[in-house]
Amino acid sequence: MTEAAPAPHERTASRRPRSHAAFARAKALIPGGVNSPARAFGGVGGEPIFFASAQGQHLTDIDGATYLDYIGSWGPMILGHRHPRVVAAIEGALATGTTYGAPTEAESRLAELIVAAVPSIEKVRMVSSGTEAAMSAVRLARGFTGRDLIVKFAGNYHGHADSLLVSAGSSAATLGVPNSPGVTAGTAKDTLVLEYNEPQQLADLFRSRGDAIAAVLMEPVVGNMGLVVPTAEFRAAIRDLTRRHGALFVCDEVMTGFRLALGGAQELLGIEPDLTTLGKIVGGGLPLGAYGGRADVMDHILPAGKVFQAGTLSGNPLAVAAGTATLEELRDHPPYAALERLGERLEAGFRRAAAEAGETVWIARVGSMMTIFFQRGRTPLPVTGWQTASQSDTGRYAEFFWGMIDRGIYLPCSQYEALFFSTCHTEADIDRTIAAAAECLAS
Ligand SMILES: *Cc1c(COP(=O)(O)O)cnc(C)c1O
Repeated sequence: MTEAAPAPHERTASRRPRSHAAFARAKALIPGGVNSPARAFGGVGGEPIFFASAQGQHLTDIDGATYLDYIGSWGPMILGHRHPRVVAAIEGALATGTTYGAPTEAESRLAELIVAAVPSIEKVRMVSSGTEAAMSAVRLARGFTGRDLIVKFAGNYHGHADSLLVSAGSSAATLGVPNSPGVTAGTAKDTLVLEYNEPQQLADLFRSRGDAIAAVLMEPVVGNMGLVVPTAEFRAAIRDLTRRHGALFVCDEVMTGFRLALGGAQELLGIEPDLTTLGKIVGGGLPLGAYGGRADVMDHILPAGKVFQAGTLSGNPLAVAAGTATLEELRDHPPYAALERLGERLEAGFRRAAAEAGETVWIARVGSMMTIFFQRGRTPLPVTGWQTASQSDTGRYAEFFWGMIDRGIYLPCSQYEALFFSTCHTEADIDRTIAAAAECLAS
């Protein structure tokens, strides 16, 4: 983490004086100066850049510099910033009221779009974030099955609810160890953590404790330890074991939903979960999450059933309008083939640049999500889970990140986050990015 030269701090102060001042002010008022830790540049050193505006594929910081955006607010902005259809929908909703605490027809319209798009969703409940969606899906799975244990995979992020903020560093099926102060041991012990892409570990766990497991949660393509793709064998093992033992399979598509295909990773990879969590794109850039799935399971939620879950701003009219416009645009003009072509171009360019520079990298990509893992060895180590991802050369990534910032390219500020691009990115943008990467890697 600290292998990066101290230069970035100084560079921030001298080259971005307004961001530097804004960060100092924010730090006095907001813990660490940010409202979500991923923004604080902890993974690359230096100070975060404060933004003033965004349009299409571009971000403009408060010092007036413009960047090509490869985080898209960590996923939501698949249509780019300020897409006309989304802006018009938000303005339309604004004209009629921002919240009623009562049902609207617009919520059913969005629900219809979600049910039509995502293969496994028959009924859906709207919430205000991905965290809430995952937390609620876990409660529902426990209420439905009458069981306590949940299984997750190391390096998979499902938001910050206590029971999901657990990631044993070991690949063994151990009792969960809380990785944040404030998560009680009592909560953590009901969360079992396994290594991703290790079907045998899952089979062993189900053999010993299968009748106590309520659910297995997974990111169907992982974005939160850098990009990692599940093998067909691993996906099949989760489906078969949960079905055989009466547990639910919860697919966390907060990042991948409407990103990898209109129906998410489950459409792309042929996954058949019982429950799915959504966030990010489903809100079109406003705070909205959702969870849905089998009608017989979803009908256990209050007031249809007895599992409690509620929200003052759930189904908020502005967020529903932005989400509806985004999903309609994706349905009417599916961008997925074009995003895949751009992705291929970016991936090939990065591979060429790394090879020419003699840099050891593992590059993983699906559609418009990608990670370039920097490694220390002579030959690339395939990244299949947290054990391999965590061996990355984060210091080298930090150098690369700052080199790209200097060239007007805004990548994720951590080795362990995927980059995203949007329908606004052009071939010329991709080529400019590749040229910048080649320069950075050569230096
Ligand atoms: C972002 C994310 C979450 C959490 O969503 P928030 O809206 O940040 O609470 C949960 N799961 C996955 C897979 C995510 O990428």
